Amino acid sequence: MSVKPKKHLGQHFLKDETICQRIADAIVPAGRFSKVLEIGPGTGALTKFLLNRTDFETSVIEIDTESVAYLQIHYPQLGNRIYSNDFLHTDPVALMGTEPFAVVGNFPYNISTQILFRVLEFKDQVPEVVGMFQKEVAMRIAEGPGSRDYGIISVFLQAYYDIEYLFTVDEHVFYPPPKVKSGVIRLIRNKTASLPCDEKLFTRIVKTAFGQRRKTLRNSLKPFADQRKEVFDAHPEFFGRRPETLSVQDFVWLTQQFQV
Ligand code: SAH
Repeated sequence: MSVKPKKHLGQHFLKDETICQRIADAIVPAGRFSKVLEIGPGTGALTKFLLNRTDFETSVIEIDTESVAYLQIHYPQLGNRIYSNDFLHTDPVALMGTEPFAVVGNFPYNISTQILFRVLEFKDQVPEVVGMFQKEVAMRIAEGPGSRDYGIISVFLQAYYDIEYLFTVDEHVFYPPPKVKSGVIRLIRNKTASLPCDEKLFTRIVKTAFGQRRKTLRNSLKPFADQRKEVFDAHPEFFGRRPETLSVQDFVWLTQQFQV
């Protein structure tokens, strides 16, 4: 029995066991979690190495029923921890309980940012993420301010996670090979419980500023200044900057200026 890769599900199966081993090795529980949820195990290339680890228990969630059937036959050790579901529309608490768990995967690239936004919704239960993404996305998430790839998702994730780019992976280790290179990153939850500002306003400001990323903040953030025009005059230099030069702390400060 084998599974023919399905393009619409972003299926690119890893065939290089060294890469699978390196991804599995990148998980460092350090007493913070004893459960791991793999998203999109496919035919279990990575799962095999996760199951070798004795310092955490692995569960998997897979949308493709054919892959699920394959896993049930080839990885009986998973027992009832194979979930045949769409990660984006599943309540992780229903699968993992209320204990902390790490999220791991060679993610389907077509929904990788959606996976991360979903993780952010459960950030206090997810102390670590180790994932493979399309290289550009991995860089964007890991890069700090000032880089071309820095953007909305970088700011939101860096607010709550310390992020490290681990290594690049070539196209030819996958079947079928994707069109682009891949990158593996690790996100470790930082100590920020909540941002010291109105988080809803923070979200709107980050999205608005990057929505017009070539404009200065003075121009892109005009809609926020209706009642507080004096903010611009008080900090002319700051509002002459563009969003990609701002750190998470800068966005927090910015939000505080517009809060009432
Ligand atoms: N981890 C495997 C497969 C990676 S391909 C390997 O490295 O070989 C990505 C996998 O994610 C596919 O098996 C695909 O079916 C699955 N997938 C796609 N969308 C999903 C979703 N919304 N929820 C869970 N799994 C999904």
